[in-house]
Amino acid sequence: MTTTPLRLLIHGASGRMGQALLRLAADNPALQVVAAVNRRSPAQRVVEGVPHFASSELAGAPQFDVAIDFSLPEGFDPVLALCVERGAGFVSGTTGISEAQRQALIQAAGRIPLVWASNFSLGVAVLDELVERAAAALAGWDCDIVESHHTQKKDAPSGTALTLGAAAEKGGAQPQYASLRAGDIVGEHLVQFTGLGERIELTHRATNRDIFARGALFAASQLPGRAPGSYRVRDLLDGAT
Ligand code: NAD
Repeated sequence: MTTTPLRLLIHGASGRMGQALLRLAADNPALQVVAAVNRRSPAQRVVEGVPHFASSELAGAPQFDVAIDFSLPEGFDPVLALCVERGAGFVSGTTGISEAQRQALIQAAGRIPLVWASNFSLGVAVLDELVERAAAALAGWDCDIVESHHTQKKDAPSGTALTLGAAAEKGGAQPQYASLRAGDIVGEHLVQFTGLGERIELTHRATNRDIFARGALFAASQLPGRAPGSYRVRDLLDGAT
């Protein structure tokens, strides 16, 4: 039995994440990339056999089922608007988005199914739960979040650090943040709880950005057929089993 492949638009295709998404999608017969969108000219081709578009040509992209966006906040609005206009799903890992862009996500969730996550790895989903529990159990301890990334990363603190901070706040802590930019670090997050004479350190280290790309492709595969709404990766995992 043959099934129709899921049609994907990859936004930010020439970037580190975009290239990982294109490479992994090419190996999966259930996925078909119908448009790869880069900021610059379509001549900046990433993968042969995939139609490439400049971001100025986004409106002319062929119909797709889900857009996966790993770009920059400047590129976020047009691709979200296109998904709403086309009735397509939206998966985004773009970090550093503004409050207005968060509001736009909430509005869009009334019309289409979407996932925005600051980190698509399974390990960080688990760390998030651990941080909330530790914060709740360690009232009065200091909570510090230290994140380290490669020197090209623009936003700080990282979106993941802020998500972990929100989990700590839910548990009653008041986290402080520190950011390091060095070499080619894919992503490290240390959440440290310090009391008098003792300390707990919870660390996640990403050594390969394929973990984020796999998570985003998984999320995209779970959106078609779902009611409009804003889903977490965890929600989709529950539905897949
Ligand atoms: P990158 O700088 O390597 O690539 C950025 C891409 O965005 C390029 O293809 C560029 O052409 C495109 N772009 C930039 N401005 C654009 C615009 N105005 N319109 C259209 N496209 C535009 O970055 P990266 O390392 O691939 O990361 C991309 C984003 O994903 C960042 O926000 C990063 O923080 C985030 N990220 C999220 C996760 C996660 O799991 N959520 C993991 C890794 C990275």
